[in-house]
Amino acid sequence: MTQEKVLKRLEEVIRKYQDLAEQELIARWNAWIGDTSTTEVHEVVGALLARQTTLATQFAGAPSTWNGHMAPLVIRSMVDAHISLLWIFQKPDERANKFIAYGLGQEKLALEHLKVAVKERGEDPDKDPGVKAHEAWINSQRFTFLTEVNVGSWSGSDTRKMADEAGCLELYRRSYLPYSFATHNMWNHVSKYNLRQCDNPLHRYHRVPSSPQMSFELEYIHGAASYLKRTFDAFDSYAKVVVSVEPAVEVLLSGFQKIQESIDPDDKAPAVVGAG
Ligand SMILES: [Zn+2]
Repeated sequence: MTQEKVLKRLEEVIRKYQDLAEQELIARWNAWIGDTSTTEVHEVVGALLARQTTLATQFAGAPSTWNGHMAPLVIRSMVDAHISLLWIFQKPDERANKFIAYGLGQEKLALEHLKVAVKERGEDPDKDPGVKAHEAWINSQRFTFLTEVNVGSWSGSDTRKMADEAGCLELYRRSYLPYSFATHNMWNHVSKYNLRQCDNPLHRYHRVPSSPQMSFELEYIHGAASYLKRTFDAFDSYAKVVVSVEPAVEVLLSGFQKIQESIDPDDKAPAVVGAG
């Protein structure tokens, strides 16, 4: 099979994955919406499930980012969403409200910073379209509980604590922490990915900046798709719903399998599994 054909087949598999992931989300929403949870719980859980779906499907659509430079940013965010959901599932009413209040508090803080910036450039914040848009969103939030909650008191900024409380500290240690190295551009990421040995022996083999192109690795998209499935599974046992849609991750894996089987081993065309 030519490289062109491989890429075309890959594109088809990805599109099928994206469609199915979306169907999985909708099926769950339809199966759950009749229950007696509050609007806040429905909206927070629904939004986070949708966010997880968005992260997985957008990532699936961008194979050039399935590498060590970019993939950790997306996957860490998915682990974060998973931990938030597990934490909310334990005390949904209380924690969904906290989740909303925290986000609203952060939005208000951002608004204040924006007003200062507008004033500093000598303009009137009341006439600024950006300020108005922030204010309109804040004013549209009409959750009655907001008067009782101390805005900004959510423990959400401490992911480790949430993971501990939600009983998934191992997930935090094994996935969230290592993916944070790339997200925060730490030495243990940048020294591996963005330095290379200098060729000049007179320079005592110091290392110099490097921004190498990387080919894609299937394990990253497999990882992201697996996290989406894990989140869906956690939701199903929380909400006690059963959906009949085939898990999107399985379609992705069988699609990759078929492509690999169709590649002649003697063929010099690049294999689907990236060279790293
Ligand atoms: Zn040098």
